[in-house]
Amino acid sequence: MSEKRIDPDDKTAYTWEELAAYYKGKYKKKEVEAYWEECKPAMRQKKGKGKGAAEPEPKAKAKAKTKAKAEAEPKAKVKAKAKAKAVVKKAAKAGPFKVCVCGGAGGIGQPLSMFMAMDPNVKELSIFDLDIAMVPPAGVAADLSHLEKKVDVKGYVMPVGQKPIDHTEAALTGCSLVLIPAGMPRKPGQTRDDLFKINADIAKGLVEACAKYCPEAIVALIVNPVNSIVPAMAELYEKKGLDPMKIVGVTTLDCVRAAKFVGNITGKNPNFINVPVVGGHAGKTILPLFSQDKTAKTIEADKIPDLDVKVQDAGTEVVNAKNGKGSATLSMGYAGARLGKAVLAGLAGFRRVECAYVKSDAMEGFKYFTSKVVFGDKGVSKVLPIGDLSEHEKTRMEEVKEAMKAEIETGMKYAEANDLAA
Ligand code: NAD
Repeated sequence: MSEKRIDPDDKTAYTWEELAAYYKGKYKKKEVEAYWEECKPAMRQKKGKGKGAAEPEPKAKAKAKTKAKAEAEPKAKVKAKAKAKAVVKKAAKAGPFKVCVCGGAGGIGQPLSMFMAMDPNVKELSIFDLDIAMVPPAGVAADLSHLEKKVDVKGYVMPVGQKPIDHTEAALTGCSLVLIPAGMPRKPGQTRDDLFKINADIAKGLVEACAKYCPEAIVALIVNPVNSIVPAMAELYEKKGLDPMKIVGVTTLDCVRAAKFVGNITGKNPNFINVPVVGGHAGKTILPLFSQDKTAKTIEADKIPDLDVKVQDAGTEVVNAKNGKGSATLSMGYAGARLGKAVLAGLAGFRRVECAYVKSDAMEGFKYFTSKVVFGDKGVSKVLPIGDLSEHEKTRMEEVKEAMKAEIETGMKYAEANDLAA
């Protein structure tokens, strides 16, 4: 049974889905999530004791509360929530889903797999990795299979040098979402082109397998350089007659960082901050739109350029702090799961908005761009426009466009020169 928490507003216990459905459209998703975190878990009542049933009618429960506010106003709201509850119960049948994490035994893959194992929308989780991974994927699966969650976790291994299409049938068949943090992190001295060549081939092998075993799944690419890998894979999907919108570049970590840094400066809870980060997902192509968040836009204009650079350089900050022994893995695992959960919520009938790098018409002249995207019951249901920009953001956007052109082109050329196997 899913967890219930007490909404302090009417002192009534609700599941996350009920609360989210009730507040949908009234508050931003992140605000509702933050509110949920503040709600105390509901104590289960023993059958036949206390106020009767384990789940008393919300109306009765609200009435029993003594606080004036709770007594004065909740009737309509409680009724609305009860209605939302009914809707939720009906829609919740759409889950649960099978998810695969390719590279699931790696630095990002492990925390990402853990967060996904904790998502109530996930019924089955495949951990796929190579036999040279730092731990066998079966070990990660065994470890996660001890969480007291309903998810069934299985590990799948492939000998290095072989083709995923020959080893992933069981891992991928039936998947609604495939998360791909498989690939090499950039080494000192390595050019972006060298990294692209290695990781594009890794991604192609896995995307080829997705095209065969789960062509309807959302394929969320974490592997860098995202700016070029995503156009390459989306074009390959299209060439094969599949929907390129199934290929989604994960840029969520930029939004996570922007919200956190704004929280640090303003002293406000970053859970309530939602800075869209548009453009791409590397260096100058990362453009946080501070002017579009109600907290971030209160920051003095002269502080914005440095804050902008801080978000762009945040990955390097982690690499340096880890003294060259890895890049962002834990925060990336968290961010990848935030996107993954949004995708699954959308598939289950609860639309979610997150920034992502997809085939897009958000920026004139660019076939691929990062912007806010609505995830619905088929995956990407809408790419939202970039919106109004401040003067600083307008200047930066020109820089973004300049850099994105070449990076998208690299991906397009790769797609022209390659094909996905049948
Ligand atoms: P890692 O080396 O710790 O893990 C990568 C895993 O992928 C390893 O376990 C490896 O065995 C596995 N792998 C490689 N080829 C595979 C294949 N063909 N099939 C299945 N598994 C395969 O690296 P990491 O730190 O987890 O980073 C992974 C990737 O994510 C890198 O490309 C990195 O640059 C990128 N990254 C992206 C973001 C982002 O925001 N999108 C952030 C950080 C890192």
